[in-house]
Amino acid sequence: MDMAKRWLDANLRKDPQLARRLIKQLLPEAERNGDVLGKAWLLFQSGWLRLDADQYEQGCALLDSARSLFEAAGERAGVARCINALGRAYDRQGIFDLAIELYRESINLSEELGRSDIAGAASMNLAQSLFELGESGEALAVLEHCERHYSIAPHNRAVTHYQKGSAYRALGRLEEAERILMDGVGMAAGASRDAMDMRCLLAETLMDRGRLDIALKLILKGLKDAAAFGERHVWIRFALAKTRFHLLQGSSDEAISVVQDARRAASELGARKLEAEAERLLYKAYKAAGAHEEALAALERYSEMKDLARNEQAASRIFGLHTERARREARHFEALYRQIATISEVGQRIASHLDLESSLATIQNAINNLMDASTVILALVDEEKQLLDYRYVICRGERRESFTRPLDMQSFGCWCVRNRSDIIIGDLESEYSRYVPSYKGLVFEGVPESSLVYIPLILEERVVGMLSVQSTRQHAYDQQKVKVLHAIGGYIAISIENSRLFSQIERLASTDELTALPNRRTVMEELAKVCRRTRRYGRVSGVVMADVDHFKRINDMYGHDIGDIALRSIAGALASSVRESDMVGRFGGEEFVVVLQETDSKGALLLAERLRKTVERLEISGPHGESLRVTASFGVSVVSQKDPDCHPVLKRADDALYEAKATGRNRVCSRLPEDGDA
Ligand code: GH3
Ligand code: MG
Ligand code: MG
Repeated sequence: MDMAKRWLDANLRKDPQLARRLIKQLLPEAERNGDVLGKAWLLFQSGWLRLDADQYEQGCALLDSARSLFEAAGERAGVARCINALGRAYDRQGIFDLAIELYRESINLSEELGRSDIAGAASMNLAQSLFELGESGEALAVLEHCERHYSIAPHNRAVTHYQKGSAYRALGRLEEAERILMDGVGMAAGASRDAMDMRCLLAETLMDRGRLDIALKLILKGLKDAAAFGERHVWIRFALAKTRFHLLQGSSDEAISVVQDARRAASELGARKLEAEAERLLYKAYKAAGAHEEALAALERYSEMKDLARNEQAASRIFGLHTERARREARHFEALYRQIATISEVGQRIASHLDLESSLATIQNAINNLMDASTVILALVDEEKQLLDYRYVICRGERRESFTRPLDMQSFGCWCVRNRSDIIIGDLESEYSRYVPSYKGLVFEGVPESSLVYIPLILEERVVGMLSVQSTRQHAYDQQKVKVLHAIGGYIAISIENSRLFSQIERLASTDELTALPNRRTVMEELAKVCRRTRRYGRVSGVVMADVDHFKRINDMYGHDIGDIALRSIAGALASSVRESDMVGRFGGEEFVVVLQETDSKGALLLAERLRKTVERLEISGPHGESLRVTASFGVSVVSQKDPDCHPVLKRADDALYEAKATGRNRVCSRLPEDGDA
């Protein structure tokens, strides 16, 4: 594909037929591979080919499709190129004012993107259209600006000379015109139409300055070359120049004969402008020859032709305006359709997934599909802790680590959540102080974002989060984009609520209500995991089982409520005596199980002893403020690599616990597997 691209770039104009065939082959391939940019580029090139073949409608349709694809892919340089090419389609049809509008749009966009090459190409086209409209001064200004600020491709340097020469000549600055055209002719050697046109213009300029002999040499060579290369337009131009030469020399008969040939050729080609110019010169020639009647007839034909040309131009302009309007409307509807489709995709995705995390990629894609967003941030409000949890931060396509900020902090996100209102900033430098006076150096260091939007995510009156998009471009977001963000934000708010409910349900299902410890199911799951790890990697893990001694008595003496309080404080004491990686769970009634990671039998015994002492020292407040004491018995074991699942180790710990009970309670016993530790 890349090779084909390079070939096409270099040879598109030279061999249009082969280029067209190649594009036809490559298009389905790009389609199959989902290569949007490749497809856009191919459509763009085939649009150009159509324009070169004077098939403007097809050309414009292809360029429009290419433009939409570039837009969707965020490839704005491609968009600028397409707009420039669309301008070309209009100027070729003589609808210069529309062309000028499009060239200016392309130049603005290219400048914004820092693409001086595209701006340069569009500026040259703009100058040409201005010149065609008779705005030579403005054309010259555009060219001079272009030479100073943009880059001009080598093959276009001669063209700028040609254009500047035309402008100078039209402005009566003949000396400058001659000099620049001389330079240009030197650059554009060869037989291209542009090169020959430039020589013709030089000949005319030389005649303006009275240097007839050199002009004639150029004209005669030009006529020969144009005939040899079949460039009929160029031939007519040289023939008209030769007519002027004869008129200046006072040889009206020769002038008449040459200009009649030129007129015939122009009429055959349907080149109205040239034909009109031929009639004008014919009128002059007849007048000079004293043939007044013929002169008058030529003058009449000349003015008729000028009217005709003007009418034709007006008609094609009206047609152009219609098609351009239809095209703009189509683009508008297409953008609207894309928005709706993307937003509904986000909705569907969120509706079919309970957790937010699995919808994040879809949300980010949707946003990038619809707007320029170098940074996307999604934060959740933690009402309990009064924090804003920056859960999802994508910066330049890279996910950053999440972090939290206190809700009362001075930051855009917190401001947006606190005030429940949007922040829309087009130029950060000049607008930040309204929201966060201490902004400087606050957000992401070294990220030169220029425009940003923050919107609160609200569900049933509650602010559940915040969504932000940011761009390095100024004024990247308008009201329309903010509306789209709100639509997406509505779904995200639902998703945040869903995942909150979901994790609540999960927590309820996995924890014990009374003690808030993991419940039996969760402990069994953890134990199963630990056993698997031992089997696979030989890790040592300990298990401690605890049972409160004579707990029935507590219930009997103080009532069930105090019993509950006692269970809760025992649970708390146990849980706070183990490492983060260990798990204390309530196994049922007044029994607890501790799963110890990376702990051998010695470590497990030590820990069990520590737990025993902790329970023994625990003071539980009784019904009258007195403190009650309890003890517990402990059974210890370790997981063996031979254990097929977690039941044997539980059985060993339980047996050890039974032994502790049987031998007097408030003690630790152990039962190790036959092979010892692991
Ligand atoms: P032992 O030292 O042999 O373990 O004596 P024990 O009384 O602790 O043993 P037993 O199994 O006979 O009694 C357990 C008691 O724990 C019975 C039950 O009333 C009490 N119990 C179990 N679950 C709860 C609970 O959720 N709340 C309260 N208050 N008591 C509970
Ligand atoms: Mg008990
Ligand atoms: Mg018991």
